[in-house]
Amino acid sequence: MTRPTDAEFEELKRKRDSAISKGVAEICEKHGWDQTKVGVHVPGAGDCYCACPDGPCQHLWNGPDYIEEGMVSVTCSRCKTPAIYHDMRCAP
Ligand SMILES: [Zn+2]
Ligand SMILES: [Zn+2]
Repeated sequence: MTRPTDAEFEELKRKRDSAISKGVAEICEKHGWDQTKVGVHVPGAGDCYCACPDGPCQHLWNGPDYIEEGMVSVTCSRCKTPAIYHDMRCAP
């Protein structure tokens, strides 16, 4: 799979974010909540686009090493996510 360009990733993020807001609006309607008062945090907004394990994935694993409790992992130079957390999140 070829890596999408940054512009394509931005488009993917926009689609994801609008899908999330749409989902929130539907939930609020269902429960009769005022969406402006729910204050939903959109997870991952502003970070790299990541739809692993099937990709596409915008992380660039060429950041500085991440060291914690004896574990060493690389980090994403874009969003600083350690690869080890990414792998955990994306594990089957
Ligand atoms: Zn990913
Ligand atoms: Zn990243």
